[in-house]
Amino acid sequence: MRRPIIAANWKMNCTVSQAHELVSAFKGLVKDVTGVDIVLAPPFTSLVEVAQLTAGTDIALAAQNMYWEESGAYTGEISPLMLKDIGCSYIIIGHSERRAYFGETDDTVNKKLKAALHYGLNPIVCVGETLAQREAGEPTQVVGAQLQGGLAGLTPAQVNKAVIAYEPVWAIGTGKTATTEQANEVHSFIRQQLNAGFGEATAQAVRIQYGGSVKPDNVDELMAQPDIDGALVGGAGLKADSFARIVKFED
Ligand code: PEP
Repeated sequence: MRRPIIAANWKMNCTVSQAHELVSAFKGLVKDVTGVDIVLAPPFTSLVEVAQLTAGTDIALAAQNMYWEESGAYTGEISPLMLKDIGCSYIIIGHSERRAYFGETDDTVNKKLKAALHYGLNPIVCVGETLAQREAGEPTQVVGAQLQGGLAGLTPAQVNKAVIAYEPVWAIGTGKTATTEQANEVHSFIRQQLNAGFGEATAQAVRIQYGGSVKPDNVDELMAQPDIDGALVGGAGLKADSFARIVKFED
């Protein structure tokens, strides 16, 4: 049985004081929640604040990006060692916005993934097709190639520590959600790919999140699908009550 994992990707939102307000309200709303891993991914500037506010709770901390080197002359970058040092346990890698705007490729995803694992960060690896790719009938082809490139050279034991987030690009921030069938179909394809590449035990162990306009009113149906093990939430993760409702999804 895979433990559900629900993460909020705040993207480039919230000042430190806004982060304080959001997390203070949110943690009260989920204090009795058990049986689900909750992850918050604020921007770098609020990580320390959120780490302090969530200390002593089960809420885990993620960064939204990192570089793959430990230190050095890489102006503007943040290393896995630095993230680990301030209490991050997860790292989002290869989000479609990073692929679209910042030149992230399957190769950089792979380098970041290896570095994250080396420093003990659990990677949340994002994959997903664009609308044009879906309309061309290629969603699994695209996702298959992203998985193959992103996970290249990893052992099954390493892949076990990863979470895969399937995020159809056309459903991110658009209010359009993949139907539960569309989502589960790609999730089950991802599991088959993991099986082919890393074996049955790994395929059964790895958690696969769905991301793309997840809201309080669609989370229950999505989470009821057999191959959907969690959600990566953007917009609805910026409001304490809506994210708390998502975390408290009903099976
Ligand atoms: C995301 O950014 O990963 C995301 C899924 O955003 P939204 O929930 O706003 O579609």
